[in-house]
Amino acid sequence: MFLLLSLCMCGLLLQGDAQDRAALWRGNDRSGRCQYTFTVPSPVEASCPQTGGPEMEGLKARLSLLEALVSRLTGGDTAGSQGAGAGARAQSGLQEALNRVTGERNLLQGEKERLEKELEGLQRRMEEMRRETERLRNRPCPPQTPVVPPSPPLQDSGLTRPAGGSNPMSHLMTRPNRQGDSSSLRDSAWQYGPPGFQELKAEVTEVPAPDGSEDNTGCGELVSVGEPVTHRKADNIAGKYGVWMQDPEAVSPYGPNMVWRIDTIGSDVRQLFGYDDMDQLAKGFPSKVLILPELVESTGATLYRGSLYYQRRRSRSIIRFDLASETTAARRDLPHAGFHGQYPYSWGGYTDIDLSVDEKGLWAVYSTSKVRGAIVISQLDPHSLEVKRSWETNIRKNSVANSFIICGKLYTVASYTAPDTIINYVYDTETSLGKSVFIPFKNKYRYNSMIDYNLAQRKLFAWDNFHMVSYDIRLGRQQAN
Ligand code: CA
Repeated sequence: MFLLLSLCMCGLLLQGDAQDRAALWRGNDRSGRCQYTFTVPSPVEASCPQTGGPEMEGLKARLSLLEALVSRLTGGDTAGSQGAGAGARAQSGLQEALNRVTGERNLLQGEKERLEKELEGLQRRMEEMRRETERLRNRPCPPQTPVVPPSPPLQDSGLTRPAGGSNPMSHLMTRPNRQGDSSSLRDSAWQYGPPGFQELKAEVTEVPAPDGSEDNTGCGELVSVGEPVTHRKADNIAGKYGVWMQDPEAVSPYGPNMVWRIDTIGSDVRQLFGYDDMDQLAKGFPSKVLILPELVESTGATLYRGSLYYQRRRSRSIIRFDLASETTAARRDLPHAGFHGQYPYSWGGYTDIDLSVDEKGLWAVYSTSKVRGAIVISQLDPHSLEVKRSWETNIRKNSVANSFIICGKLYTVASYTAPDTIINYVYDTETSLGKSVFIPFKNKYRYNSMIDYNLAQRKLFAWDNFHMVSYDIRLGRQQAN
């Protein structure tokens, strides 16, 4: 019994000794889980046959954990780079938006400068008119003379005055003398002074009504213009002004229904948008965008026989751009033509050269220093752009809002802002005669920057304050002036 007790005590003592030399290791395994290792020295072996042991295992486990962490971090880096990609995209989107806004700001800045110039011009003109009024007030009254019967219309070397009297202004302007008599006295100031321009803002004669035989297919004189029909509104500031058109003699690959458009605000105008038809224009889905080799100036472009004709920016050069080959087919200076704000229409906008097409071909409306701002009409060879023939009118170009040509007759519009204005003058290249007319015309959106005859649809096309509008027209029987 004593022996058994002694053995137990020894065992306990040995166990206690063993416990004193035992070691507990804790570490993560490869999968990252916590692992405990309990070791007790061997009573028989002084050393292990191989190196390693719990420390090594622990180190391995820790290394594995580190590897896992590094791997996770690397993955995180990948995700980070993906995040960075998204960030870069967002930044690029922001940059794009910034560029767009900056572009629009620049456009608005340019527009502001243009309007300021226009304002200056208007103020100058007002001052001139004030001085002229003052001068006329201070003049003695002209002696009264009998009314002179009208003489035959004058016609000389292209500079043709309107019919209706020996005085080129008499049918347009009568002004009261000091007694307030506004009877048709001859006005010496106008009679003996140099031939002046027609201001086209005074009395006008109503166009004779068609004699019951309207003719909507053949050529004739314009009788009336219908209400404006809106087809599309431009999406941004670049489209505040513009030109839209159709080719009356379309050439493959483009069909006759194709509608073309150029937004003309900005200093880098060179995009020509093509729409399959009016519906696609209305929906805003262009099927073609052509980049023009030379920058476009203003809203005077036109289309004819597969070519776009336009004025090259800051020059009097007319460019013929072939739509099919997308190359410049011809270019030529329009002799002596003013450009870049020299002789614009009253709204400005560098509308110095206005090209258009009618039944008789390709026309340019512009002015030169020789005629001091009067409208010159030239018929151009559509192939070579050479001037075939020119007419000099007495209409001051900057006194009218715009003009268009139908059947070889030039019509001028009085105002580009008045919602109810008139077509106030017609000049016939057939007879080289002009006369006043009174045909109501509506500027629905109060800022009409382009008006042209669209021969393809026999309508007027206009660009009124972001809006592409068209007007039905009625032509009367051909009438002698
Ligand atoms: Ca025009």
